[in-house]
Amino acid sequence: MRRKLVAGNWKMVASGERVAELDAINAAAARFDVDVAICPPFPLLGPARAAAPQIGIGGQDCHHLLEGPHTGSTSAALLRETGAAYVIVGHSERRALGETDAQVSAKAAAAVCAGLVPIVCVGESADERRQGDATTLISHQVCNSLPAAVPPDRMVIAYEPIWAIGSGRTPTHLEIAEMHSTIRSSLIRSYGPDAAGARILYGGSVNPQNAGWISAIEGVDGLLVGACSLAAADFVPIIEAAAMAPGTIPVAA
Ligand code: PEP
Repeated sequence: MRRKLVAGNWKMVASGERVAELDAINAAAARFDVDVAICPPFPLLGPARAAAPQIGIGGQDCHHLLEGPHTGSTSAALLRETGAAYVIVGHSERRALGETDAQVSAKAAAAVCAGLVPIVCVGESADERRQGDATTLISHQVCNSLPAAVPPDRMVIAYEPIWAIGSGRTPTHLEIAEMHSTIRSSLIRSYGPDAAGARILYGGSVNPQNAGWISAIEGVDGLLVGACSLAAADFVPIIEAAAMAPGTIPVAA
C-alpha cells in the first residue's frame, strides 16, 4: 500500500510570517499516518525546516545541473543541503514560461541524484480537455517528463489539470479516476511492475471540503495543494481528510 502524501505549494505568495503556520501543520503531521510536505519560497526553506521537523520541506524548482555558473538558479544539491527532501518540477506555471518535458525530466534526474524526491507535475489545459486529448496528452507528458533510468518509487507524480489550478473548479470523481489510471498505465508501460511504487497526487483547487472525497478516489495517493496550504486553518483539515480516507491508517492523537 502506498502511504499518502499531502504537499503544500506556497508559490511566491508567502512572506516570512507564514512560517508561524507551521507549528500547527507540524503537530498535525505528527498525529496522522500520512506524509506531509511544504514547499515554501527558497529563502524560507531553512526557517521552515527549523520550525517543522515532522514534515518534509521542498523547493518549488531546481536547475537540471548539480552546480555551475547559472545566476538566479538553485541546484538540487543546495536544496538538499538546506534540509529539503522534495522539489516540485514541471509545475504548469513554469511550463507556461517555456519549460519542456525534456527539461522537466532532467530536473527530476538531478533531484534524485542529489537525494531529493521530485514531485513531477503534469496536467492538461481546458482546451486540450475540450478537444478530447487529455488522456493522450498526459500519457505523453508522463513518459517524457520522467527520467527512464530513475526507479519510479523515488519520484512522485502530481496530476494537476491546469484549468483547476487556482480556479475553484475541480474535475469530477470519474475524471480524476480516469486520469490517475491513465498515469498509472503509462508508468507501467515505462517501468514495468516497479511502477506500483510511485505515488500519484491530485492537485487543483483542493480545499477542506473536497479533500476527503478526492483522497478516497482509487488511485489518488495524496494531494498537492496551493492556496489552501498557506494557512494551518485550511491545511490541517486537508491533512486530516487525507489521513481518514480509505487506504490510510489514522494514529491516536
Ligand atoms: C498548485 O498550483 O499546485 C495548486 C494545486 O494550486 P491551488 O490548490 O491553489 O489550485
